[in-house]
Amino acid sequence: MAVSVGFIGVGNMGNPMASNILKNGFKMKVFDKVPKAMENLVQAGAQRAASAREVVEGSEIVLTCLPASPDVEALYLDAGGLVECAKPGTILIDLSSVLPSTPRKIEPRARDRGVHFLESPVSGGVSGARAATLAVMVGGDGEVLKRAEPVLRSIGPNIFHVGPVGAGNTVKAINNMMACVNSLAMMEGLVLGLKAGLDPMIIHDVVKASSGGSKALDRIPRAIIPRDFEPGFKVFLMNKDLETFNTIAKELHVPVSFSNVAQRYEQAAMAAGLADKDTTVVMTIIEKLAALEVPRAK
Ligand code: NAD
Repeated sequence: MAVSVGFIGVGNMGNPMASNILKNGFKMKVFDKVPKAMENLVQAGAQRAASAREVVEGSEIVLTCLPASPDVEALYLDAGGLVECAKPGTILIDLSSVLPSTPRKIEPRARDRGVHFLESPVSGGVSGARAATLAVMVGGDGEVLKRAEPVLRSIGPNIFHVGPVGAGNTVKAINNMMACVNSLAMMEGLVLGLKAGLDPMIIHDVVKASSGGSKALDRIPRAIIPRDFEPGFKVFLMNKDLETFNTIAKELHVPVSFSNVAQRYEQAAMAAGLADKDTTVVMTIIEKLAALEVPRAK
């Protein structure tokens, strides 16, 4: 019989991931502090729980997908939290992108109670979560990962065991710094091209076929031209990931530059009241600096 799965935190990423796990035939208990976020999953057959505690007491594998380190540490480590309430043998997997110090705090506390813990941040965005094509970056015990793999395969085919806890969130911070810097470089190039009178789709098509091409270009037709800045991936979450990258760099005395420039743009967007918009909204900040606006799609 398929193992029973619990899912806590079903926002932009957690919701489609939970949906794909359900589709793969796993029994699921779900909880989000915003009840509306659970509705489609309950309609698809998940059991609505009244609390995170109810999820962890009734599931063999529990997945969590929350915004940031303070949320994750409170849910797992507070009195009455997941670590305290899980039965020995339960596997807890955190899919959130957090500081590496967070899983390093949780894992030994879980182990002391005979509970297993893996960190497992993901990449691929909301579209990758819907399509079950996420990259999954697991830190923790390889034997525990083997047992959890059938569930994780429901969210993505590329499961990487990258090392002990902390390693998964380190590689995730590296990935997001690179994705953000690529994206901002694309936006600066685009604004320059527009100022020079070029068509944004000409820039898209030429660069895509050339040496400057990257996945960042997909944002031109998807978000920038239609002016659709609904998340997606919120500015304040990207700011948090750049902060994680910079924290690791400081701890290891590695001089880094681009992440600081990128973080300044995310903070400018937050200062402009755009923290809950998609990261592509930073285009509007760069446009303002250049006194320019991209023409709307016809
Ligand atoms: P989100 O804000 O859309 O979802 C977070 C959900 O967690 C919300 O529904 C919120 O109500 C719920 N929540 C928070 N605290 C809770 C608690 N204590 N108990 C129950 N529910 C709680 O954020 P998201 O975009 O889904 O991102 C989640 C994580 O995934 C973040 O760490 C983010 O950096 C990472 N991530 C996001 C993307 C993306 O494209 N959105 C991609 C990869 C990774």
